[in-house]
Amino acid sequence: MRIRVGHLYPDYLNIYADRGNIAVLTSRAAWRGHELVVEAVSMGDELRPGTHDLLYIGGGQDREQALVAVDLAAKSEAVRESVGRGAAVLAVCGGYQLLGRYYRDRDGVELPGIGLLPLHTIAGERRMIGDVLLDCDWVGRALAGFENHAGRTLLDEGAQPLGRVVHGFGNDGASGFEGCRSGRTIGTYLHGPLLPRNPWLADWLLAQALAHATGGEPPELEPLADELEQEAHGVAAERARARGGRL
Ligand code: GLN
Repeated sequence: MRIRVGHLYPDYLNIYADRGNIAVLTSRAAWRGHELVVEAVSMGDELRPGTHDLLYIGGGQDREQALVAVDLAAKSEAVRESVGRGAAVLAVCGGYQLLGRYYRDRDGVELPGIGLLPLHTIAGERRMIGDVLLDCDWVGRALAGFENHAGRTLLDEGAQPLGRVVHGFGNDGASGFEGCRSGRTIGTYLHGPLLPRNPWLADWLLAQALAHATGGEPPELEPLADELEQEAHGVAAERARARGGRL
């Protein structure tokens, strides 16, 4: 199968090697005989609903977020329609914040979000930096990654977090939760990049994207050896345990 990915603002939102997530999806798809076709969708580009099985948006400093926020807001209908038709979404850090209603930066400037996820974000004085370990009980798995953000993300009542913070700060350094998930949409603060050390999430996203591409259910993907990936996960998890992560 061809898996069509829309990479939003790769030229603006790509810190901490977030682009590496695309490389992981490309390899893990190819190892199962699928081809990942990535289209960059940036400033002034049209986003045609239904043409992508997966949308991806990376992280960025406040400056880059301010540059793309209005353009992304203009695409909000197209993003919603894509999601409404079943496309999967992975959004990391600055991109995650812009999927909410707004991001108010440290100068109090409110950047519009697209309101796809039930949350908003307000920047605090102190940045939340370091390794993170999450417990994702909805799949009985763990996630390990790295966070660096000033934003405190507040989920609406009833919103589903991606995981419970075992070590680290997470959404706001207080709620004990990290990220947000809604159907096939995943938002998270975890950089690193995220997917090389958490292959189960890469496979989960690929399965959701294949479900969109085929119009069927998410398939069970053939398991891969993943020794290196598990080792990388172990190292990141150990670093998170060692760090503690309290404000
Ligand atoms: N600029 C945002 C913040 O500081 C997001 C940072 C990021 O993407 N790492 O919270």
